[in-house]
Amino acid sequence: LAEKLQSTLQKLKGKGKVSEKDVTEAMREVKMALLEADVNFKVVKDFINKVKERAVGAEVLESLTPGQQIIKIVNEELTALMGTTQSKINFSSKPPTILMLVGLQGAGKTTMGGKLANMFKKQGKRPLLVACDIYRPAAIKQLQIVGGQVDVPVFTLGDKENPVKIANEGIKHALDHGNDFVIIDTAGRLHIDDDLMGELQNIKSNVKPHEILLVVDAMTGQDAVNVAEHFNEKLGIDGVILTKLDGDTRGGAALSVRAVTGKPIKFVGLGEKLNENSIEVFHPDRMASRILGMGDVLSLIEKAQANFDAKKAMELEKKIKSQSFTFDDFLDQLQQVKSMGSISQLLEMIPGAGKQLKGMDVDEKELVHIQAIIQSMTKEERQNPSIINGSRRKRIAAGSGTNVQQVNRLLKQFEQTRKMMKQFADMDKMKKGGKFKL
Ligand code: GDP
Ligand code: MG
Repeated sequence: LAEKLQSTLQKLKGKGKVSEKDVTEAMREVKMALLEADVNFKVVKDFINKVKERAVGAEVLESLTPGQQIIKIVNEELTALMGTTQSKINFSSKPPTILMLVGLQGAGKTTMGGKLANMFKKQGKRPLLVACDIYRPAAIKQLQIVGGQVDVPVFTLGDKENPVKIANEGIKHALDHGNDFVIIDTAGRLHIDDDLMGELQNIKSNVKPHEILLVVDAMTGQDAVNVAEHFNEKLGIDGVILTKLDGDTRGGAALSVRAVTGKPIKFVGLGEKLNENSIEVFHPDRMASRILGMGDVLSLIEKAQANFDAKKAMELEKKIKSQSFTFDDFLDQLQQVKSMGSISQLLEMIPGAGKQLKGMDVDEKELVHIQAIIQSMTKEERQNPSIINGSRRKRIAAGSGTNVQQVNRLLKQFEQTRKMMKQFADMDKMKKGGKFKL
């Protein structure tokens, strides 16, 4: 799909102008990419409309490469949807900061607890993990193992006490032992149910956590969105943690969760291990690229562009060296320039000429005339301009809607360019020759 998207966007390049139809076509691919990434349909629809609005119009018309412009807009809007800034943990000015992890069973709460503990310990905090899942068999043991792996203490009262009491005692323990960061690992259920919500509300109202973070499994896609909506309504959450992004999911859930709940994604989990590489602060821009499947479309486009330029530049270099640069090449370059940007870009593409010609002033309107003049030449004339005599000049001027002076000027300029190119080529030979002697 990334390839398809890319080819559509490539098609937009070199057109100079982007029509509404172009944008619509490109957005169809973007839409597919989003739906494939399991982004909520309504979110997709709103998003597409928003981008269309921005893409059709001045911004794109003025852009050098419309395809790139569109993909940039898509990326920017996606990023904006997920929050343009990174959301960090709100640390309490009065320790300990209390963080409560909630979510369905298997979402990755306990694992994330270990990852967070490890991460904040490395940042100089003294975390304490509190075991409030008294239902899942061996849940306490699991948290103890996790704590052991990252060398962070785990507070437990076994599975006979109620979770509210465990949480409260845990916080007392933290105060007594100088732990400035308490992570409460709560129970989950396979599905949302009122019992669970009741229990979590109870913990919340008693403990008053500074952060309630909902842990959702990115692989569950649309379900993650429903879960997030429900938890946010019933419990109120401060943010979301997206786990299992190491799987082959595109992470469309991220976009939808944010769009639906309005709550920021704060961290992402990547893998079952607990080390530093398995947790990341959420980066909206990276996720935007991932969702579009253009993990690397952006860089692919940039690369394609670079290859394109490099190939043309190489061809041009060859021609300069063999001094077979003709009006056809000139025209070809002109057209490229018009689709790609300014004439100075073209000049920079000419090997060795870049520096010397940089900043040279070129009247872009003049280019239209130049193009017309060249197009009025015969094939033979373009290949071999020396045959263009007086009567041919008159004919060319008439054919291109210009006058003979303009044709003369172009011919003279072309001759000068050729000479200059010959000089560069000679200079290049000299350089190479010099090296050879050494
Ligand atoms: P909890 O029920 O919400 O506490 O979920 P757990 O922390 O017990 O995790 C459930 C399963 O998912 C375990 O097998 C974890 O190893 C696994 N898991 C958790 N986070 C990740 C992750 O980011 N990537 C992968 N691949 N597996 C994960
Ligand atoms: Mg657990």
